[in-house]
Amino acid sequence: MRDKHLTLLVVPHDEHNVRQIRLSYRRLQVLAAVLGVVLVTVLVAIASYGRVAARAGRAVALEQENARLEAENAKVNAIAMNLARTEQAYEQIRSMAGLTPDVLPVEDVQQADAEPRSPRGWPLTTKGFVTAPFDSDEGHSGVDIAVPSNTPVVATAGGQVRESGSDAVLGEYVVIDHDDGYETMYAHNANRLVSTGAVVERGQTIAYSGNTGRSTAPHLHYEVRRRGEPIDPAPYMR
Ligand SMILES: [Zn+2]
Repeated sequence: MRDKHLTLLVVPHDEHNVRQIRLSYRRLQVLAAVLGVVLVTVLVAIASYGRVAARAGRAVALEQENARLEAENAKVNAIAMNLARTEQAYEQIRSMAGLTPDVLPVEDVQQADAEPRSPRGWPLTTKGFVTAPFDSDEGHSGVDIAVPSNTPVVATAGGQVRESGSDAVLGEYVVIDHDDGYETMYAHNANRLVSTGAVVERGQTIAYSGNTGRSTAPHLHYEVRRRGEPIDPAPYMR
């Protein structure tokens, strides 16, 4: 076995310079093994490249989808903003014409004085549109209300300002402590009118709404918390 050899003859057609390649079987085995390993490596590389390429393709598709959704979201926000402006203009015309608007949010806030402990009423002096409701599954801990920038933001209950500050996500924000473990938070404001420690009354303007922090369009992010836990503000906004 060890002495077995194979001879390859390379014969050019003009029959000159015939070459002989003598190979031992052992060498042939080694050569075959090396070729096998190379072949397997190449196949594995091709297969994993295919997977990576497929994944990259999916990532690109998801990015496009995300961009499309973001654009759509911005459009919806813009439409809501326009509606809010139209509504505001309509209310202005009505008040100029001497007609009293049926229900102004400010009145809601004042009416709620009968039960002063829990936050109650609309946190702005003008109507706006809820563009994103409270959704704990989605991680949205409050409601988003689309309103034009510089709309007065009002405290929905009396209390003490626990935090008045700036944040990369919340922008210019105010947190107020109320009785009975209630807390309210007002975010993405253009500017704040109260500082930490200030005592505020229900209906007091504490900030002007805006588009600061992580926000794609002017809106107020309003939160109600009970004993530190965000709860759905909707029942408290009537
Ligand atoms: Zn929000």
